[in-house]
Amino acid sequence: MGPPGAGKGTQAKFIAEHFAIPAISTGDIFRANVTSGTELGVEAKRYMDAGEYVPDEVTNQMVRNRIDEPDAEPGFLLDGYPRTLAQVEELDGMIKHTGHALDAVVVLTVNQDEVVDRLLQRAETEGRADDTAEVIRRRQEIYAEETAPLIEVYRDRGLLIEVDGLGEIDDVTQRIFDALDVVPQS
Ligand code: ADP
Repeated sequence: MGPPGAGKGTQAKFIAEHFAIPAISTGDIFRANVTSGTELGVEAKRYMDAGEYVPDEVTNQMVRNRIDEPDAEPGFLLDGYPRTLAQVEELDGMIKHTGHALDAVVVLTVNQDEVVDRLLQRAETEGRADDTAEVIRRRQEIYAEETAPLIEVYRDRGLLIEVDGLGEIDDVTQRIFDALDVVPQS
C-alpha cells in the first residue's frame, strides 16, 4: 500500500522476484486491458482517467480470476489491492477459498507533496493518462478517503509493516527486506 507515486510498482517487482511469486498489479492489469481495448478496459478507463477507483465488483472479479491462475498457487504479492474496506472483505473470502493467508501488508509512507514531482516526471517518460496535476490531486484525495483507513485494519491484525518510501530505490528495497526479515542471497 501507499499513496500514488509511493513506489509500489517498483518495489513490488523486487519483492516478488525475491520470493519467486507473481506481482499482481491491479493498475497494470487495468492498463493492459485499456491498451488491448477489452470490455473491461473500456469500462475501467472512464474511472482511471478521472482518478476515481474502478467499482469494487469489477476489480474484485478481476483479482479473483487472477489469483486462481496456477502461477499464484505458491503465493503472490498484490500491488494496488485491496484499496477499499469492501475489497479487504472480498480478499479475505478469496484467499480463504484458495487456501492462502496474508503474511504481511507493506505500507510505503511518503510525503504526498514530495511525490507529485515523481508522478509528473513519470507522465513525461511513460505518458500515463492519469498523471496530470489535476488527476493526481484527485487520486491523492481518494487514497486518503478510501484507502488510508485500511492501514488501521491491518495494524489491528498485526500484519502491518510501515516503511519510509523516500530515498533511493535500493535503500527502500533494503528497508522492506529488513522489515520482512529477508536474508540476503549470496
Ligand atoms: P497509483 O497507485 O499510482 O495511483 P495504480 O497503477 O496502482 O496507480 O492504479 C491506477 C488506477 O487504476 C487507479 O487510480 C484506479 O482507477 C485503478 N485501480 C487500481 N487498483 C484499484 C483497486 N484496487 N480498486 C479500484 N480501482 C483500482
